Amino acid sequence: MIYLDYSATTPPDPRVLDAYQLFNQEYFGNPNSTHELGLLANHQIEKASKEILSILNVEHYEVIYTSGATEANNLALKGYAYQNAHKGKHIITSPYEHSSVTTVLNYLAKQGYEIDVLDIDKQGKVDLVELRDLIREDTILVSIGMVNSELGILQDMEAIKEIIAEHEDVVLHSDMTQAIGKVKVDLKGIDLITFSAHKFYGLKGIGALLRRKDILLEPVIHGGKSNSMFRGGTPPVPLMNSLAVALRFATKDFSKKIEHIKQLNLYLKDRLGQIKNSKINGVDAIPQILNVSFLGVPAETLHHELSKRKIYVSTQTACSSESSYSITVKRITGSDERAKTSIRISLSHLTKKQEIDDFIDALLEVLDENR
Ligand code: PMP
Repeated sequence: MIYLDYSATTPPDPRVLDAYQLFNQEYFGNPNSTHELGLLANHQIEKASKEILSILNVEHYEVIYTSGATEANNLALKGYAYQNAHKGKHIITSPYEHSSVTTVLNYLAKQGYEIDVLDIDKQGKVDLVELRDLIREDTILVSIGMVNSELGILQDMEAIKEIIAEHEDVVLHSDMTQAIGKVKVDLKGIDLITFSAHKFYGLKGIGALLRRKDILLEPVIHGGKSNSMFRGGTPPVPLMNSLAVALRFATKDFSKKIEHIKQLNLYLKDRLGQIKNSKINGVDAIPQILNVSFLGVPAETLHHELSKRKIYVSTQTACSSESSYSITVKRITGSDERAKTSIRISLSHLTKKQEIDDFIDALLEVLDENR
């Protein structure tokens, strides 16, 4: 098998699996129990949160553990919007957000919130002048993800933070699901941060919303006593710890891993560039994600034929609808043909050059058969 779909999900780091197993054995007590086993488990949550916040350099935030980024985005957006409806109902976002942001915002729109979607330039960056212009008295929230999952477009978070900082009453949420573990992030100045462990070699079923401590939210999951007043349910201590462990290892030897991925990306781009009718849907993208169209061959065909050969890439993203027409590619390139024929290849520090060569051989075969 050749796995080139690391942005959809990553295989868990064996050290994360070991820690998960150990914690299930050692710390199975309910952290809400007040006996010693409960207290021990509770202490492990505090340790995990401390490590997560220290790695991400936002010690003064709260880690609200969720089932993943989808739940974290729901809590950030609905939680903040409901809690602050009396201040205003205007929210600004980008056209590149994941469905777990856009569908929540559409849902809020049905409840009387007003959502403005920013324009983007040819590089895929949001229009910062427009962002500044759109902010008004009743704007409560701006939600802009740092890295788009389909093309890997990297937003200028520093500039966005600066603009939001000029407005005391506007809160900035950023979906960091495709950024954490992939790019260097400076989270200071972002009020609500969301991500998911399975994107950086952690386990599925655990993610987090980091909350600046003075920001209050209406819970989305109500329930009994928990470790956070913003999310009910018995805290899954082994999963929480696994998130900290995954983050620890994902950020270890970071520069070395990124350098390897950059080299692979350049090599892959070069090989793809030599293929007739190939078009790299290039923008200022992170090196882990490469989006390319092969004119004349529908994305589904490529995806299917590669999958038959046990080579895994994706069309659009794993979470989008069945159609392989990419609105994001259309928006960037203006071309319907490119939008219909684009695939996403996503790389990891685990990817080997040989895998790229084998992928290109298979790709040439599939293209030959289908053109
Ligand atoms: N946001 C982005 C940018 C994503 O790529 C994904 C996963 N594809 C999500 C949110 C949702 O994450 P989860 O699978 O943890 O719900």
